[in-house]
Amino acid sequence: MSESLSFLCDRLLFVSIVLTIHFLPICNALQMETEVADETAFTYEKGTSTGPENWGKINQQWRVCNNGRMQSPVDLLDGRVEIHPDLGELKRDYKPALASVKNRGHDIAVIWKGNAGVININGTAYKLTQCHWHSPSEHTFNGSRNKLELHAVHSSSDGKIAVIGITYKYGRPDRFLAKLIPHLNSLGHEEKDLGIINPGEIKFGSRKYYRYIGSLTVPPCTEGVVWTIVHKVRTVSRDQVRILRDAVHDAMRSDVSARGLKSKL
Ligand SMILES: [Zn+2]
Repeated sequence: MSESLSFLCDRLLFVSIVLTIHFLPICNALQMETEVADETAFTYEKGTSTGPENWGKINQQWRVCNNGRMQSPVDLLDGRVEIHPDLGELKRDYKPALASVKNRGHDIAVIWKGNAGVININGTAYKLTQCHWHSPSEHTFNGSRNKLELHAVHSSSDGKIAVIGITYKYGRPDRFLAKLIPHLNSLGHEEKDLGIINPGEIKFGSRKYYRYIGSLTVPPCTEGVVWTIVHKVRTVSRDQVRILRDAVHDAMRSDVSARGLKSKL
């Protein structure tokens, strides 16, 4: 190698180290903003190479799924969880906005394209980006698991994530799902426009909630997520749960779209 070429390589190596040092945190921040859009790489089938015990081995960037210390979901009696007597600190300022629906393989997600508003937690505004459902519920209360859990996912301008979880037992139909379900019949692999969807129609029904710092419950299992689980268990009809489960891709269909508890880490 000639002297000048060697010098050039040294310079390039130096530049690439500088780029890596400066841009890695930005890459990490970008990754933090969302759950993976394509869920086909992992499954909920325990004992398989793509099942929950092995998510951290599928992709280098998912390692925290296996070795993280703040993983979700948890039982709400876990020591990490605090109970708040009312929702005084959690201010929802949602707005109707354009949205679409997407079948992500293991779940159905409503994705807001326009400004659907924010929640404020301890002085930070988190913008609503999407909501999706898990069946059965992921968070448990004293070991008992409900039929369904909605996750409303929000992100702040600096890439922090806050998720609100609402759990459901069988009973009267849920009104927000009732509006969504007619759109699921013709849903293929592509996102489908829903028009204007008002997230204010996702009812909490309680001012009491649980709060803890955990992670995304699907890869990349990013930690530092602010979880708020509404104390009241709302109701959903058996048909609504069945339709949500049946709508996910056949090859990916599983009886469970919920990750096991992470309280014993
Ligand atoms: Zn979720």
